[in-house]
Amino acid sequence: MATHDSTAASPPPDDYPRMLCMPVEMHDAIFNELKLSDAVAGNVYGQRLRQTNRYFFGLIELIDPPDHNTLLYLEKTPWAEDNDIFTCKYCLTLRHKSAFGDGMLQGNRARGGCDSKKRFCADCGFDVSASGSRYPRSTDTMVNGERWVWCRDCRKVKKGDEAGLDICQQCCRDCYGAYGCACEKKEKCCSAEKRATTGEMNREHKL
Ligand SMILES: [Zn+2]
Ligand SMILES: [Zn+2]
Ligand SMILES: [Zn+2]
Ligand SMILES: [Zn+2]
Repeated sequence: MATHDSTAASPPPDDYPRMLCMPVEMHDAIFNELKLSDAVAGNVYGQRLRQTNRYFFGLIELIDPPDHNTLLYLEKTPWAEDNDIFTCKYCLTLRHKSAFGDGMLQGNRARGGCDSKKRFCADCGFDVSASGSRYPRSTDTMVNGERWVWCRDCRKVKKGDEAGLDICQQCCRDCYGAYGCACEKKEKCCSAEKRATTGEMNREHKL
């Protein structure tokens, strides 16, 4: 985190806007708040303020993007708890809980959990072009109430409407429509009864 030397910037003249006439300690307090916001918004607020005039330019140093440990520390603050904010290990940002797949915020990966450092958001987890231990192909999970599936047949990630109803685990709506059930758990996930009811709904939905 950046520290700054208040002697580096000369105090603003008397006819400056009030915002600039505050004691440097108050500016300091504001910048510290902005560091929190920057951790969420990708380092923009403090840097924007820095661009507004020479005084702030001298006062605010370039803030390094927060590292993973800093984010994990921040997510345990009351501010993060109140706002349902969590850390992603890949995009290294703090994101709202709605950006994470079901299960990613529970158990050991919960806030302060021993595996919270392994947590990743749904966007990063389903990034099929990226490396690292992310969701494997055929992952079928709910993200903020919407079904996301990395289809085992077409190998694409489909979300919500394109994922279709959860008739058959691990495959998307189009592949289900084209091939029927192709999953290993045929007996378990696609009972005749379930196909008869939700299958019809899915086909109607496509038209
Ligand atoms: Zn992420
Ligand atoms: Zn598919
Ligand atoms: Zn099935
Ligand atoms: Zn299937």
